[in-house]
Amino acid sequence: MHSFDLVVVGAGAAGLFCAGIAGQRGLSVLLIDHAEKLGEKIRISGGGRCNFTNRDATPAQFLSENPHFCRSALARYSPRDFMALVARHGIAFHEKHKGQLFCDDSSERIIEMLRLECEAGGVQRWQPCTVAGVRDAADGGFELDTSRGLVSSRRLVVASGGLSIPKIGASDWGLRLAKQFGHAIVEPRAALVPLTFDAQAWAPFSALSGLSLPVRIATGKGKAKGEFLEDLLFTHRGLSGPAVLQISSFWTEGQSLSIDLLPEQDLAAELRRAKNDSRKQLANELAGLMPQRLADAWIARLGIAGDRPMPECKDAALAQLAEALQRWQLTPNGSEGWRKAEVMRGGVDTRELSSQSMQSKRRPGLFFIGEVVDVTGWLGGYNFQWAWSSAAACARSLEQDLATA
Ligand SMILES: Cc1cc2nc3c(=O)[nH]c(=O)nc-3n(C[C@H](O)[C@H](O)[C@H](O)COP(=O)(O)OP(=O)(O)OC[C@H]3O[C@@H](n4cnc5c(N)ncnc54)[C@H](O)[C@@H]3O)c2cc1C
Repeated sequence: MHSFDLVVVGAGAAGLFCAGIAGQRGLSVLLIDHAEKLGEKIRISGGGRCNFTNRDATPAQFLSENPHFCRSALARYSPRDFMALVARHGIAFHEKHKGQLFCDDSSERIIEMLRLECEAGGVQRWQPCTVAGVRDAADGGFELDTSRGLVSSRRLVVASGGLSIPKIGASDWGLRLAKQFGHAIVEPRAALVPLTFDAQAWAPFSALSGLSLPVRIATGKGKAKGEFLEDLLFTHRGLSGPAVLQISSFWTEGQSLSIDLLPEQDLAAELRRAKNDSRKQLANELAGLMPQRLADAWIARLGIAGDRPMPECKDAALAQLAEALQRWQLTPNGSEGWRKAEVMRGGVDTRELSSQSMQSKRRPGLFFIGEVVDVTGWLGGYNFQWAWSSAAACARSLEQDLATA
């Protein structure tokens, strides 16, 4: 039997970070992952450059059934703290868009940094290794049946992530373990994911695949409302791009989206002005305001004569066009699912976890960190920040907890 102060299951962002801190604070730590490679999601993140945090992260950019839960951890380990660690490791980074920080060269640098932090803490790592079962031990700790033998641990940290991208190791292990110890689960849903439409309804737009433009997009009402000004990307099956990935986290089945294809403009006023001042044809006038392919597709869809000179256009037709383009209402029939989702929305219900330590209120000694918890960030570095903040909260509390145990 192998014995440790702490076993962390999941050597992804949260697990690696937590194990490194706990090890450096004097705990004996075993880190287990069923994948062969370390930090696969970090590797593919941010297009290979890892958008490792967002300089401006606040609790307002996180979704949860318990929206205040993330406050304490984010306040106690902030983007600045992680930026300082990255700088200490000599990793160059830059801000790309709206506070998003990326490595200058490769996400491998973040994986290597986390590996070195674990090494400095003497963390033992078993990879690949599976955990077939976890049970209560007589001393109040845990016993784990692993593919490398029986392990006893005083504390257990679940950092096995969400359900997205199963082909690189995502599993429901953490959710099943939470249920085993009596935890409620907020229904997991694919988030930060492209949305799809009924093939027939989408036929007029599928030829626009690859076209991208800035839009204002909204869905939901009241506290559940999401609204973003970001780029939209047309695909063969539906919509993607940052605007749609963001809104997908707010969207539920049957709900419609509202899209303004000309944000910051008053198209009705522009067309009225053009009717008086311009001799161009309607299609050309519109193509001066948006990509030509998109302008043509909308004119065809509405059955308006695009070759008509502006002065001859009917007011009602111009008003209809402006309304359609600035208040486009459409209802997705689904999403591209776990295969394409960047994150999981939902997870272990936070009402049964301590926001200070991430410890279970049902089973002392059991902790949940990172994406397996019902805290989901917007697109833009927020999800990694949650991994770092929740991991730091957990590791710091473990040190005190075990010192007084
Ligand atoms: C394509 C893509 C791009 C992304 N880009 C960004 C980005 O740029 N910025 C950002 O903030 N977020 C990004 N994310 C989200 C981010 O990667 C996750 O939110 C983050 O990795 C979650 O950290 P975690 O440690 O909780 O889970 P993970 O990093 O997913 O780690 C979980 C680990 O647990 C292991 N595991 C799972 N099941 C088991 C089991 N049964 N036994 C043992 N081990 C197990 C897995 O192999 C994995 O190593 C991206 C996600 C994807 C899919």
